[in-house]
Amino acid sequence: MLGLYVHIPFCSAICNYCNFNRGLFDSGQKERYVAALLTEIRAAADGSPADTLFFGGGTPSLLEPAEIGAVIQACREAFALAGDAEVTLEANPETVTEARLAGFRAAGINRVSFGVQSFRDEELQRLSRLHSAARAGEAFAMARASGFDNISLDLMMWLPQQTVAHWLESVDGLIALGPEHASMYLLEIYPNAPLRDAMARSKWSLAPDDDAAEMYLSGLDRMDKAGYIQYEISNAARPGRASRHNLKYWSDGEWLGFGCGAHSTRDGVRWKNFVSTEEYISAATAGGQLAVDRRTLSAQERLEDALFTGLRLNAGIDVRAVKQRYGVDVWEVFGGELQMFVDEGLLVYDSRSMRLTRPGMLLAHEIMTVFIRSTVR
Ligand code: SF4
Repeated sequence: MLGLYVHIPFCSAICNYCNFNRGLFDSGQKERYVAALLTEIRAAADGSPADTLFFGGGTPSLLEPAEIGAVIQACREAFALAGDAEVTLEANPETVTEARLAGFRAAGINRVSFGVQSFRDEELQRLSRLHSAARAGEAFAMARASGFDNISLDLMMWLPQQTVAHWLESVDGLIALGPEHASMYLLEIYPNAPLRDAMARSKWSLAPDDDAAEMYLSGLDRMDKAGYIQYEISNAARPGRASRHNLKYWSDGEWLGFGCGAHSTRDGVRWKNFVSTEEYISAATAGGQLAVDRRTLSAQERLEDALFTGLRLNAGIDVRAVKQRYGVDVWEVFGGELQMFVDEGLLVYDSRSMRLTRPGMLLAHEIMTVFIRSTVR
């Protein structure tokens, strides 16, 4: 079944490390944007079955519950959205109240994903986030009180000045709240990020690489002990609570993206909408072409995608499915170069799957490059 993604590009302030497609909130632009989204969704209507809908951003929780409700309704009319579809809203802790969360729930949202990033106020301030650790805890409690029984929290590790002990405080803070799902990403600071200047000015540094590896391994170890099951390099969940939407990206699935900069992949074709919010609004409102980059993926690209994303999952690459779909025996083609990773305990291969061990996940990029090197020949 299809996954549906809706991009909401508005934020109350721009965080100093952020490289997403977003801009400052403007209520007039937001209203025109929502109208454009409804037009785009209706134009794509084909009644196809879908079982996930994900509002990502940006900060989707800046929309009003009625606006979120209108978009969900448009998706229901345009596609055969399953009755038990997973419908997620990304939210920033400072944007929610119990009444707003209850409104989102009444509108059809059944999963909330909070961008918490850290449970230490000084780290949040260094990242120029608007919320405090206490506010994140309050937002979580409000979501529970509003009836949400499927909540995800995001944390980021390897923050400026963060030690392993600091990082584990945040992991413990997350475990203490008890969400159903957690994402833990390594902070990547892009070349011109304002955070780089702030780090230089304030003489903040990053912990050594070995500490970053320890953060990753010890954080996941605590999650294991708390009963979470890691299912992807950066994601862990209570049994049965893995993100059904994100699994589509990692398991060779298909999805349609709506809104500025949204990507879609369907029937071997990939496209991306206008990135600029205003260009998107103009084109969608006029009923024009929204895709700026549309192309049919070659068999080689599809295979590489399946291998790259499959290896991100703890379940690994389903080698029989790859053989069936792409006619490629993964071990026959790549085994020669991968054997050393197996010998080092970083990769496991059997006749059903090829998967990274946890230490192997730390070297995922190096291991994945084998797929490119070997297939380019
Ligand atoms: S809230 Fe999220 S999307 Fe918005 S600027 Fe901060 S990191 Fe970027």
